[in-house]
Amino acid sequence: MRKLATIRKIDEVKEHTNADRLGIYVVDGWKVIDGKGRYQKGDVVIYCEIDSFLPIREEFEFLRKTSFKKMGEKEGFRLKTIRLRGELSQGLLIPISVLPKDFEWTEMGEDVTALLGIEKYERPIPASLSGIAKGDFPGFIRKTDEERIQNLSYDELIQHSYIVTEKLDGSSWTAYVKDGEIGVCSRNLELLEDEKNSMWRIVRQYGLEDKMISLGRNIALQGELIGGKIQGNPYKMNNFDVRIFKIWDIDNHSYLEMTEMIELSASLGLTTVPILEKGFQLPPTMDKALLFADDISTLYSTNREGVVLYAEGNPDVHFKIISNTFLEKEK
Ligand code: AMP
Ligand code: MN
Repeated sequence: MRKLATIRKIDEVKEHTNADRLGIYVVDGWKVIDGKGRYQKGDVVIYCEIDSFLPIREEFEFLRKTSFKKMGEKEGFRLKTIRLRGELSQGLLIPISVLPKDFEWTEMGEDVTALLGIEKYERPIPASLSGIAKGDFPGFIRKTDEERIQNLSYDELIQHSYIVTEKLDGSSWTAYVKDGEIGVCSRNLELLEDEKNSMWRIVRQYGLEDKMISLGRNIALQGELIGGKIQGNPYKMNNFDVRIFKIWDIDNHSYLEMTEMIELSASLGLTTVPILEKGFQLPPTMDKALLFADDISTLYSTNREGVVLYAEGNPDVHFKIISNTFLEKEK
């Protein structure tokens, strides 16, 4: 599970040039606006990332006006990217005093998400997608997820060269073959075989059962399902389709190199996510890298969600840069 609320330190306090009563607090790669003078450089705080869904609790009631949201049956407060008097603010700082009295934090970055009852906010998945669960996501495949650049050490990231892919705003799709059996999974579940389910239909559409079985190896294709009503169909597709971004080697417990991923996808008749650049070097600062993510999608004339970068020759280094322009417009 993703760490949404963590123990962190205020790295820097900046003036908000356009608001006397506000201050900008820098925590790793994030900037959060709060009351001026509320925190000092070096203070230890809890930082809640955007997409946190906070439980209804007295301490969080000040969020009701701006952030109250339902997720299914559950009520809570959802944190998203906002702009206050011209400056971007992402996430929330909470004093560590909200932690239970008998709890003592021990290290920077410590995860307090579950302790505070915080979950990741997820938009509801249309019924044609969610399907019927067969079981949990299989333990022999890694779930799809990407860390945000703001949580990583930029000094380390800048050492690599990258393949840049467009991040598509759809729904996570996995199809695997293991010992001659085919399975299909959404982000967190394995799905029962079902002709009406869009995730399974992709398997039929491309004749993947036969093709995957005849590969004679145990692998999982992972991609983004787009089209239909998914995320409001930003790319205005007429049908559902999938764009592959990773292939997991089940027996080796590792991802294939991107070049092999691209070749194998093509040989199965599948399209990958848009490959935007190879041999890409990150700009000198994280702020510039964030600006790089702002652009128009290659699939349709709409703001792209962002980019996912894959270090060349190092399958363990990959992360996402979500476009702040996209986030600001998000509903
Ligand atoms: P998020 O959508 O913010 O939860 O970010 C992680 C998800 O992005 C993954 O689980 C994938 O479903 C999706 N995704 C879309 N495009 C890509 C891409 N080019 N590379 C990797 N993941 C992607
Ligand atoms: Mn997504």
